[in-house]
Amino acid sequence: MNSAPRPPAEAEPAKPSNFLRQIIEHDLAAGSYATRRWAGSPGDAAHHATGQPDPARIRTRFPPEPNGYLHVGHAKSICINFGLARDYGGVCHMRFDDTNPEKEDVEYVRSILDAVRWLGFDWGPHLYQASDYFDFMYRAAEALIEGGHAYVDEQTAEQMRVNRGDFAKPGVDSPFRSRTPAENLARFREMRDGQHEDGSMVLRAKIDMASPNINMRDPAIYRIRRATHHHTGDKWCIYPMYTFAHPIEDALEQITHSLCTLEFEDQRPFYDWLLERLTEAGLLQAPPPRQYEFARLNLTYVITSKRKLAQLVYDKKVSGWDDPRMPTIVGLRRRGYTPESIQLFAERIGVTKSDSWIDYSTLEGCLREDLEGKAARAMVVLDPVKLVIENWDALMGAGHLEPCTAPVHPHQPERGQRSLHFGRELWIERTDYEDTPPKGFFRLFPGNKVRMKYGYVIECTGATRDASGQLTEVRAQLVPDTKSGTPGSDSVKVKGVITWVGATDGLSAEVRLYDRLFTDPQPDAGGKDFIEALNPNSLTVAQAMVEPWLANAQPDERFQFERHGYFVADREDHQAGGDTTRRVFNRITGLKDSWGK
Ligand code: ATP
Ligand code: MG
Repeated sequence: MNSAPRPPAEAEPAKPSNFLRQIIEHDLAAGSYATRRWAGSPGDAAHHATGQPDPARIRTRFPPEPNGYLHVGHAKSICINFGLARDYGGVCHMRFDDTNPEKEDVEYVRSILDAVRWLGFDWGPHLYQASDYFDFMYRAAEALIEGGHAYVDEQTAEQMRVNRGDFAKPGVDSPFRSRTPAENLARFREMRDGQHEDGSMVLRAKIDMASPNINMRDPAIYRIRRATHHHTGDKWCIYPMYTFAHPIEDALEQITHSLCTLEFEDQRPFYDWLLERLTEAGLLQAPPPRQYEFARLNLTYVITSKRKLAQLVYDKKVSGWDDPRMPTIVGLRRRGYTPESIQLFAERIGVTKSDSWIDYSTLEGCLREDLEGKAARAMVVLDPVKLVIENWDALMGAGHLEPCTAPVHPHQPERGQRSLHFGRELWIERTDYEDTPPKGFFRLFPGNKVRMKYGYVIECTGATRDASGQLTEVRAQLVPDTKSGTPGSDSVKVKGVITWVGATDGLSAEVRLYDRLFTDPQPDAGGKDFIEALNPNSLTVAQAMVEPWLANAQPDERFQFERHGYFVADREDHQAGGDTTRRVFNRITGLKDSWGK
């Protein structure tokens, strides 16, 4: 026997390592979180009660603010957080960071959950919201006050800004900084009880007004804001600041690795400071979660700012959040991207600590790679003109339709055959005919022979144009005994093969030819007005003819239209079925990258 050593059965295909994987592997080997006791449901009043050892080896989380639709940048973060948890036998929490009552909405909550699920991830029972922890956060704030680590500041916003200093200048202590814990506690409770105006005072952490890190110069941790929260209603008129809330959310959920984008790097000292204080106060268990930052996704020809995407929607530059040109997850989905192609993309671009731009063609490449083996093939004529076979009736009999077949997938014979009908009249692409052929043109021109794919060889005899010069009809003669797949059919050599749809059984369809939304690879870089970079040709609509097999195309079903690219039946507007239906296909991407040239 000469059997090669086999990997253990549970071995996964090796994934390229990155700095996050190295950190996690180190922590797993060192048992950094092995002593953790699972506390049961986070946010629970009895949080600190120790239960069983935490069964999850690592815990990550995806923490969107429910204030907009997720975009392709979030998809990167989702794939990192859920992907690492999956790969290391851990758990990823889905958490809404809903600490900002004014901008949030349940509509966004629903769309975010849909997007994560569609991308292929499952949070199991671990669905949380920051607002569930408001009681705990309030207690944490009181504990800081009692420990001398927080104070109520009544300076105006302007005074606070000036006294914070800047990179060159240390800050100046607030006159309220030396209040006693008892005074601060009383004031803070008045804030909570609605005895003070919005904006009249804030609770600040008491750290170091001279710190070189401005985030450590006594950051605000609670503010007064009379606003109805979509979850807690009018229970609170004070709300925690994001930078205070986030570490607490992570700690309560026993997150091990809190992964975020680089802009939070300067917040990490406060993250650690806060969790140390609360652990000292006996409110949290050690070891605390640790924050690690990675580079955000910058994708050429795309903007990934929620605010700017909202502007495109509200100014009606696109048809909505799910317009197939939008980089939102709902937009990518409607455009025809598959969850697998987006996961592949996230893996391919990897995780680094330095900002860079990823070329849009990388995303399109992942889609092509995913769909090449999956998508059924079909013939479609996007700009149809009639082709008439002059000798058809004489050779084949008047009205005869010759059945032809084409594989559903050229490399997967098990998927069967599509059936087509060749006849006297066919639809072909307008651009497949030229009166005088340019150099290298091998398709239809008088005297030239081409093969009609899956059909016969024909010889072009001419064409008709209307008064304006518009092509109205192309004519040809059938070359007998050349039907594809019959013996001797390749005895006539041709240089061109063209696609077609039968005029008798072809169906009409609307085909939406989408292109990039912007003409500038970095539409909003350096303060540029991204509206000016909108591509005026990002959508053209073709009235196409499609082969009969597509009558049963289901919404969301993807195809390769031969010669043209990958297309999807539109999930909103396409109807499958008989004659009265509306067929609508979206172009996802062409067969090759056509932008680099
Ligand atoms: P935006 O700045 O577009 O409004 P955001 O960061 O405010 O996005 P959140 O809801 O706070 O949106 O984001 C949830 C998570 O997604 C955060 O952890 C954030 O770091 C991450 N994220 C947001 N944009 C990107 C991006 N372009 N690349 C990678 N991760 C991102
Ligand atoms: Mg954010």
